[in-house]
Amino acid sequence: MRRTRLLKVLVAILLVAGLLVPSTVIALTSPADGNNLLLGNPSKAVHSTASPNNYLMTTSNYTLSYNKSRGEPNWVSWYVGSSSLGSVDRLNNFRADSTLPAGWYEVQANGYSGSGFDRGHNCPSADRTSSVAANSSTFLMTNMIPQAPRNNEGTWANFENYLRGLVKSGDELYIVMGSYGTGGTGSKTCQTTIDGGHVAVPAHIWKVAVVLSNGTKDLSRITTKTRVIAINTPNINTVSSKWQTYLTSVDAIEKATGEDLLSNVPAAIQKVIEAKVDSNPATSPVPIVVVPPVSGKTTFQPATKDYTVYVTATGKTYHRLGCQYLSKSCIPILRSKAIAEGYTPCSVCNP
Ligand code: MN
Ligand code: MN
Repeated sequence: MRRTRLLKVLVAILLVAGLLVPSTVIALTSPADGNNLLLGNPSKAVHSTASPNNYLMTTSNYTLSYNKSRGEPNWVSWYVGSSSLGSVDRLNNFRADSTLPAGWYEVQANGYSGSGFDRGHNCPSADRTSSVAANSSTFLMTNMIPQAPRNNEGTWANFENYLRGLVKSGDELYIVMGSYGTGGTGSKTCQTTIDGGHVAVPAHIWKVAVVLSNGTKDLSRITTKTRVIAINTPNINTVSSKWQTYLTSVDAIEKATGEDLLSNVPAAIQKVIEAKVDSNPATSPVPIVVVPPVSGKTTFQPATKDYTVYVTATGKTYHRLGCQYLSKSCIPILRSKAIAEGYTPCSVCNP
């Protein structure tokens, strides 16, 4: 601490003396590699009750802008590298976030019950499996949005799996996920709010991932050639399970939200990478998800192709999405991997 203070004093003296250019100061005060907000604060959120609808909340596992009026985050920003991924089981300990300021409505674990919407993670449980504490933090309701079940369990699960696949093959990622607009359709009807009006149902859900190969000085390694994957999906239950359908540019998301993503990246580089739409999304195996009717009727899937099935943290049976015996707390896994790990097919949906 003392050393930091001394450094700040020294920087101030040098600045006054005109001996340091501002860019040097920026370098000295930049967040470190792996910081959840390395790419910047998209909405200039501040940790002050005077800013209730753009309220900055910082945890060691992710950073977010909370919106008190909407009862959910505007965006959540986090880092995923090989150190983020471990072997901790999904805890499913959904709970209210008691760190919200006194007097603010706290969405409870059962706040979405019966609404037809999933408790959709922003920072996913499976991105935080290095420790029990890390996984547990993702189940705070301040990290959730009401997400149409097929959007969450199909499109979103596929995209999350794809991104973790990149990490497993030597990349590290800086991710921001957010939502905006009002009105979505879950498994029941179109709704604008749930939980007695305390939680807005977003109309659009987006995610931006900046992909770097493992290394150091991450911010300085972002160039005009850096891969950026951006998707923007409608919050509806008739969404395609193929996330590639929803590829877009960061610029388009910025236009829709009024936020400035990747704001810590030099403007000239932002200009190039934010205008691009990712064109090479299918480099690692993309699981094929069959989304059968919610009634439990399933679609035939050729056994020669691998695809995603779902398991729970405790069971030893795997199911198709939509199976009546699949609990909502489902974990996507490739069918071949499920079989290799000793899971057996559900006798009803017969995946
Ligand atoms: Mn989810
Ligand atoms: Mn930007």
